[in-house]
This record gives sequence, structure tokens and C-alpha cells, in this order.
Amino acid sequence: MGSEQLETIFVDESGDHHQMIEVHELGFVKLIDTMGDDEEVENAARISYGKGTRKVSQTRNLIRYLMRHKHTSPFEMCEVKFHLKLPIFVMRQLVRHRTANLNEYSGRYSEMSNEFYLPQGDYLQKQSKTNNQGRGEDHPKKGALQFEFNRIYDNAMMAYQTLLEEDLAKEVSRAVLPVANYTECIWKVDLHNFFHFVRLRSDSHAQREIRDYSDAMYELVKPKFPICCEAFEDYVRDSVTFSASEMEFIRDCVVGDIIEEWARYTDEEFNDEVLQGKYNLSKREMNELKTKLSKKEN
Ligand SMILES: Cc1cc2nc3c(=O)[nH]c(=O)nc-3n(C[C@H](O)[C@H](O)[C@H](O)COP(=O)(O)OP(=O)(O)OC[C@H]3O[C@@H](n4cnc5c(N)ncnc54)[C@H](O)[C@@H]3O)c2cc1C
Repeated sequence: MGSEQLETIFVDESGDHHQMIEVHELGFVKLIDTMGDDEEVENAARISYGKGTRKVSQTRNLIRYLMRHKHTSPFEMCEVKFHLKLPIFVMRQLVRHRTANLNEYSGRYSEMSNEFYLPQGDYLQKQSKTNNQGRGEDHPKKGALQFEFNRIYDNAMMAYQTLLEEDLAKEVSRAVLPVANYTECIWKVDLHNFFHFVRLRSDSHAQREIRDYSDAMYELVKPKFPICCEAFEDYVRDSVTFSASEMEFIRDCVVGDIIEEWARYTDEEFNDEVLQGKYNLSKREMNELKTKLSKKEN
């Protein structure tokens, strides 16, 4: 139902091939263009770090360093451009991401589509009791709920068509259509702000419908920037940050003793090399972790 649709290839009017993922029954995400790649990010960064760094750090290490330390501007050198078909209520959330450039289908110039988003299956859930902005347990009356959705969609489309037949301007007539009506847009954003978008909209707190779009967009972008995406997942998407108070708690209750006595643990089970291997950390990351957990602030 969500974005777990098969990835397909579509051919545009000029014969170019692009990847596409269908989202829900009627929507889609097409990746129509990208600018740059992992190396482009590295090249941009080398302007600031110079040749000296090249000897010691490979592309992956440098990109991971940039992501880890929020040196974000090299990621802004690359761009991704999509063609999206999505319900207007999802578009309203998408449009909040001001750093993207977009151009949307015009309901003033053209007739709006006769297509509406119909939630199905486990998308039909009751209002959450713990989160005012979310869904809760499964709703048992799915058929009756869908009947209500369709009833409004049919009536709204009939009214829209009647108003057009009365020669009311399209820009006014569309006011009768619900936000489930499908629209289309071209959406372009640089890689840094794309990651910011994905962090917010693929998160479990985001509405499930936009999450499906965000997940599908990320799935298409990932093969184009594999190293950047790996770093994004590791240091941003799947990472957790701790407040100062939480850090104090961790230090005092969980790792305080270990950190205090770190130097003492030099046996085979507990030395830097073993830990680096076990947790896939570079020597530099290990040092940074020690600094984070130590009582001295960096
Ligand atoms: C789970 C969730 C729930 C939400 N609920 C609501 C809601 O109830 N109501 C609502 O209105 N919105 C809601 N939003 C939208 C949210 O408040 C943001 O508008 C949206 O996520 C875009 O984020 P952004 O501003 O960081 O992104 P972008 O607009 O892409 O901006 C990226 C970054 O650029 C910088 N930036 C961009 N423009 C400016 C500017 N003018 N001034 C200063 N810095 C700027 C900021 O650092 C910003 O983080 C919700 C979003 C999420 C993910």
C-alpha cells in the first residue's frame, strides 16, 4: 500500500529513462534528474581542506567526517529533481520545505484530475489516544469509512463539473474539491536539504502518507549517492542525540565508571582496537566518542 511498490523505469518524451516508484494507488515518485555524485561532494570539500588531507582520507572517510561535523555546504553542491504525483494534503506538507524549488500543476489553467486519495487497510486507524497528531488502533469499520470518502469525492467532482459547465472560472470552481484530490509537481532540492527533508518526513512522527513519499524518494536517491547516504543514515537518520542532562545521567549511571577507568582496560576484551572493530568506528571516531562521554566538554 505504501511506497513498497516495485521500482520501475519510465521513459520520458525525449526518450530518457528514469526510475519511478508508485505510491499508494494513484501517486508516484519519479527521479527525473540528479546533479553530482559522492565525488562531487568530496571535490567541493577539498577546496577548504586542501591537498594535505587527500593523502590520509579517502572519499568515504572525508564524507563521513563532513556529515559527522555538520560541515554541510559540500552536500549543497549536488541536487535531486523529482516529478511527484500526490494528494493536495501531502503537497501542503511538502511545500513547507522552503529550501526546495517547485512548480505545481495549475488548477487555474487546467482542469483538476478526477482522482482522490482513498485510505485503505491499516491506513484506516482510530485517532491516537496518546498523540493528538497521530493514529492509533486499527479501525474496524473500513468499508463504511471508505463509503464516506467516496461519497464526498463523487459529490465534489459532480459539483466541480457542474460549475465548469456553468462556465465558472476553473480557479474558482476548484474550491469545491477536497484536499485528497491529486496534484503534480516538479520538486528540486540540494542534497543537504534533501537529507533534512528525509530526516523529518521519513521519521515515525511524520504523517504516514508523506512518509511513504519521503521513503520512496530516498530509495531512488540512495544509489546515486551511496556514500553520502550511508553517512546520513549513520550520523543523522539513525542516530540519537542526548541533551546535557541525559549525558550527565549516562555518565553517572551507565558509563561513568568505565570512562573513569578507561585507561585501565587494556586487556584483549576491552581495548580501543577491539572496540573499534566491534562497533565499526575509526580511530578518530573512537577519540571523539571518548570526548563526548568524558566529563570535560570539548
Ligand atoms: C512531524 C511534523 C509535524 C509538523 N507539524 C506542523 C504543524 O502542526 N503546523 C505547521 O505549521 N507545521 C508543522 N510542521 C512543519 C514544520 O514546522 C516545518 O515547517 C517543516 O518541517 C519544514 O522544516 P524546515 O523549516 O526545517 O525546512 P525548510 O523550509 O526546508 O528549511 C530548512 C532549514 O533552512 C533554514 N530556514 C529556511 N527558511 C528559513 C527562514 N525563513 N528563517 C530562518 N531559517 C530558515 C532553517 O534552518 C530550516 O531548518 C511539521 C513538521 C513535521 C516533520
